[in-house]
Amino acid sequence: MSTITPSQEQAVIDQVRKGLYIGGEWRDATGGKTLGVEDPSNRTTLTEIADGTPDDALAALTAAHDTQASWAAHPPRERGEILRRAFELIQQRTDELAILMTLEMGKPIVEAKAEIGYANEFFRWYSEEAVRIDGRYGISPTGRGRMLTMKSPVGPCLFITPWNFPLAMGTRKIGPAIAAGCTMVVKPAQQTPLSMLALAQILEEAGLPAGVLNVVTSSRSGSLMAPLISDPRSRKLSFTGSTEVGQKLMQQASEQLLRVSMELGGNAPFLVFDDADVDEAVEGAMLAKMRNMGEACTAANRFHISEKVSDEFTTKLAERIGALKIGRGTGDGVQVGPLVDGGQRDTVRGLVDDAISKGATAVVGGTDVDGAGYFYKPTVLSGVTADAQLLRDEIFGPVAPVISFDEEEAAVAAANNTQYGLVAYVFTKDLRRALRVVEGLETGMVGLNQGIVSNAAAPFGGVKHSGFGREGGREGIEEYLDTKYVAINL
Ligand code: NAP
Repeated sequence: MSTITPSQEQAVIDQVRKGLYIGGEWRDATGGKTLGVEDPSNRTTLTEIADGTPDDALAALTAAHDTQASWAAHPPRERGEILRRAFELIQQRTDELAILMTLEMGKPIVEAKAEIGYANEFFRWYSEEAVRIDGRYGISPTGRGRMLTMKSPVGPCLFITPWNFPLAMGTRKIGPAIAAGCTMVVKPAQQTPLSMLALAQILEEAGLPAGVLNVVTSSRSGSLMAPLISDPRSRKLSFTGSTEVGQKLMQQASEQLLRVSMELGGNAPFLVFDDADVDEAVEGAMLAKMRNMGEACTAANRFHISEKVSDEFTTKLAERIGALKIGRGTGDGVQVGPLVDGGQRDTVRGLVDDAISKGATAVVGGTDVDGAGYFYKPTVLSGVTADAQLLRDEIFGPVAPVISFDEEEAAVAAANNTQYGLVAYVFTKDLRRALRVVEGLETGMVGLNQGIVSNAAAPFGGVKHSGFGREGGREGIEEYLDTKYVAINL
């Protein structure tokens, strides 16, 4: 693949509508304010988009609310076919969408393409699920009555998505909501609104009726969303982002007793036992740590390695991580892009400096990359002490702290020693150990001998402070359906 030219970059930016998408119309923000979108690789402004106000957000909710009844009555087959057409359009436009995503978020083009493929699988999966919404009919235990259950869409939904996977975190909410017959207001993160605006254009082209999907971009997420969350016309809030913001939103959502899904932060342990294939574990670690420059809720945050293989694992991981090509994501062969913004890089640098000040050693990396962009060198830390802050906090950067353990019980206890519970990774060839450890882990997901779990056909989600609710798979559409039970007297 060759480097993308400035004129190709400009062309994809020019194609994106920059307004708010409300009731099937593209409009400016009330008052005409705009918000700049930054390229994190060089801090230039890529473009300006509408900076929506609370009034704009309320107009979006009105559109969603007014469309809800007609959309719920839309034939499921047609809802599925709209998703299928969008799936095909996204496939055709993967190259352009990938450039757009890389420009606003920083990830290398190959990773942007991988995200688009993953994001699009939610549309394919839920295009198929739209026609499989059903209920059941049963005989009451007394034998006298009958029980009927039926499903209906929960109603207008509010979606708030983060910047790290600008498309996939949207499609895994939008796909099942469309399939279930819900309308929605989506607020993407201000760092990465362009991918979501491009997605809205594609859904419009695929025939999604006006008012089903509404997108509001804004620099003031709190004041924009609070009135919608407390509005009785909203029925569901699905949030992907930090645990701290998720907690705030849950409090707000209690006012209207909204149905809530929370996909929050992680602190994934990566366990390698002495019977594991170390090369396979290093391969898994590269994926679990370096995908998205470590800016993933599923990113391995702590490497707990059996002391018998810890040196070998650390050396091999450091060799692989140290050899990665860093650069602007659109560059030829680039494997590591910049972090999303200055705040994110400050956090990562602070956590590494803290670990080193407490006794850890940077085997590779450990500093910023000089230059205008928010680059941080991929880093492996050995000898990390138990009091290092990065064992407790989500690093959200390309930093791999390695800690060794002696016994299986100690490894599981260390893995569970966190308030988070999204995902864990386990490498072992011993089947009995694998099942014992998997059962003992307090997480919503486990990667067993593999460094990635994301799959549109599977239920993604966490426990503890990583939230609740599941996205993807058969479970994902249930988040958008209410069950009505009918007691029948024969
Ligand atoms: P964040 O600061 O919580 O922001 C997430 C979204 O919430 C953004 O759209 C943000 O908008 C919005 N937001 C912030 N404050 C808000 C408020 N008071 N009211 C309404 N909306 C508000 O998280 P982030 O830094 O973007 O994303 C990283 C976090 O997401 C990490 O913790 C990561 O683990 C988590 N994550 C979890 C999953 C999962 O599935 N479990 C997946 C991906 C990411 P603005 O940014 O525009 O203010």
